[in-house]
Amino acid sequence: MEESVVRVGLIDVDSHNWPNLCLMKLSAWHKSHGDVVEWWNGFERYDRVYMSKVFTDEYSADEFEPANAEEIIKGGTGYGLDNVLPDEVEHSYPDYSLYPEATRNTAYGFLTRGCPRACGFCIVSQKEGRRSRKVADLSEFWRGQKYIKLLDPNLLACPQHMELIEQLTKSGARVDFTQGIDARCITRENAEALVRVKTQMMHFAMDRPGGIAAVKRGLEIYADALDRAEKKWRGRPPKVYVLTNFETSHEQDMERIHAVQSVGFEPYVMIYNKSTAPQITRDLQRWANNPIIYHAQPDFKKYRRRACEAI
Ligand code: SF4
Repeated sequence: MEESVVRVGLIDVDSHNWPNLCLMKLSAWHKSHGDVVEWWNGFERYDRVYMSKVFTDEYSADEFEPANAEEIIKGGTGYGLDNVLPDEVEHSYPDYSLYPEATRNTAYGFLTRGCPRACGFCIVSQKEGRRSRKVADLSEFWRGQKYIKLLDPNLLACPQHMELIEQLTKSGARVDFTQGIDARCITRENAEALVRVKTQMMHFAMDRPGGIAAVKRGLEIYADALDRAEKKWRGRPPKVYVLTNFETSHEQDMERIHAVQSVGFEPYVMIYNKSTAPQITRDLQRWANNPIIYHAQPDFKKYRRRACEAI
């Protein structure tokens, strides 16, 4: 008996400028089964509509529920932490044609999932587990694209990270470690491997006030590996994400900023729940994240004094 074709509509609820990996995998899986897949529109009838949402209601509210579908399936962290794709969908090569602009010559995906750190502001450990584990080889989502956006939460915490870094190096693609590298996991061996990966800009993370010494040590090892590979940055030092407004005082934020600067790297300030952030934290972000302002005055105290005098 012939299987009937399923008509599938897709809704990217967040609709931000970031391709939705789950929808790309669902699309690929359905197309490989001969189904018709398209972005949902109100004039068609669908056998099934997938709504995917990454952000919670605070950032991305559901505005409607489609009435022209036999079945609606909602998924993504915006709808809860316990919904995951079936294995055969999860391991499909993404249908990049859904987002032709954002994925032009660019592959997106995860080599690992999970993180042992369980930071209070982050859902990764709760959703993916307190252990970083390998979930894919690079070939699962990369087929020769020039750029790779790696979405892994904590690649270096995975026991197989050396093998995975080697795959990234061999690809010859320019890799963006979008979530930042956990500097506390840097060793001489993996630092040497990391500097062989082609990157545009390396990002590290120093999100919590504790463990500053361990982060600094990791950054120094990485800088040393760059030196020995004669790849020292030219005017563009690596950035270190510094999370603020989450259970830290301004003094604690400054302590991390100074630690980043002391090893020759540059801070990139992230603000948790920006609507509640004090003015000084907003000023700190403006100062650190604008290269023109930052390079004109790398001392935040002096920058702020001058900015206040100018008002
Ligand atoms: S280290 Fe990063 S990925 Fe891991 S829990 Fe903390 S913020 Fe999340």
